[in-house]
Amino acid sequence: TKPLAGIKNTASERTFIAVKPDGVQRGLVGKIVSRFEERGYKLVAIKAVVPSRALAEEHYADLRARPFFRGLVEYMTNGKAPVVAMVWEGKDVVRQGRAMIGATNPLESSPGSIRGQYCVSVGRNIIHGSDSFESATKEIQLWFGKPGEVIDWEPANWVWTMAEN
Ligand code: UDP
Ligand code: MG
Repeated sequence: TKPLAGIKNTASERTFIAVKPDGVQRGLVGKIVSRFEERGYKLVAIKAVVPSRALAEEHYADLRARPFFRGLVEYMTNGKAPVVAMVWEGKDVVRQGRAMIGATNPLESSPGSIRGQYCVSVGRNIIHGSDSFESATKEIQLWFGKPGEVIDWEPANWVWTMAEN
């Protein structure tokens, strides 16, 4: 069977995308899901979850030393709203996902990007996306590591979305 994160640089590449609690509170889940669906990506996992502190700290492990780390983990885990965690599959989805999301600081995000359209604060930037295939591999394992949580399926119109010629 296919690795959890699919195969890099193929149509089966996968990325981890999460609507953060502020995006869920603000009712933006549907709009965000639609962006990925409409682009031609395939939803292979989704769940609402209030992450444990351990999960959030592991997810953001590379930022442990940063001054905003405690606040970031608190806001992700306090349960005022869940995180909506997803895995999306398709061509170049890791890099395209980051481009669709926009810059970390929404004030630097292009207006057509998700952050550029829906938020203004770096501390409440509504969405996460894996920054590399290696990060996607780690993050999908972390959030969807139990057997059967990521679903392999073929949309009936997949060829119409994916054919190169
Ligand atoms: N963050 C923050 N202040 C900062 C930088 C980052 O609150 O100065 C938060 C923000 O929610 C960001 C997350 O930490 O999305 C992870 O930071 P990273 O640099 O990985 O940005 P991302 O990959 O989310 O664009
Ligand atoms: Mg990041």
